[in-house]
Amino acid sequence: MRAFKIEEVLKKRWGGLVLVVEEVKNPHNISAILRTADAAGLQHVCIIDPLGEGFHVNEAISTGAEKWLTVEKHYSAKLCFESLREKGFRIAATALEGAPTPIYQYDFTRRVAVVLGNEKRGVRKSTLEMADDRIIIPMRGMVQSLNVSVAAGIILFEAMRQRLASGLKDPLPEEEVEELLRRWK
Ligand code: SAM
Repeated sequence: MRAFKIEEVLKKRWGGLVLVVEEVKNPHNISAILRTADAAGLQHVCIIDPLGEGFHVNEAISTGAEKWLTVEKHYSAKLCFESLREKGFRIAATALEGAPTPIYQYDFTRRVAVVLGNEKRGVRKSTLEMADDRIIIPMRGMVQSLNVSVAAGIILFEAMRQRLASGLKDPLPEEEVEELLRRWK
C-alpha cells in the first residue's frame, strides 16, 4: 500500500515547478510552506540562508512533509538562481510593489521557480532585481500583505490549477524518480 502511494505521488511530482524561500525565519511558516509544497506536487524547495542559520521545522505543522521533499540550501540568491537557470527555470519573485503581474495572469505552465520572501522585509531588493518576473496575489483589503505560508498556498495551487487545466505533462526525470524510490521505500 505504502509502495503504491509512493509511486503514485512520484508520478504526479512536477519537474518544472520549484519553490525558493528567502530568509523565512518563523519555523511555523517554514513548516507550513513545506507541507503546502508537497501537497501541490513540488519536489524541490530551495532555501536561501545567507547567515547559515539553518531552518527549523515544527513537525506538528509540517506533518513530516520535509521527508518527502528535496530541500537544497543556498548561501545566496545569486548562487541559487544560477543553478536554477542552468536547469532552464525562469525566476518569478513575489513583490508587492513595482507593477508585479497578478498570479492569475502569469503563465505557470513554463519551468518556473517562485520566490517567497522574509516575513518582515519581503524578498530582498537585490534578489528582486535578479529575478525575471515579479508576481503578486491581488489584494483588496486593508492589509498590505498575506502571511508568507498562506501566499505559498495560493500561488502554488494557482500554478497547479493552470498546469492541470492545460494538460501539461511535466514529470521529474526518470533517474530522479528511481533515486527517490530507493530512498523512500
Ligand atoms: N513588507 C513586506 C514586503 O513588502 O514584501 C511583506 C512581507 S510578506 C508578510 C512575506 C512574504 O509573503 C512576501 O515576501 C511574499 O513572498 C509573500 N506574500 C505576502 N503577500 C503577498 C501577495 N499579496 N502577493 C505575493 N506574495 C505575497
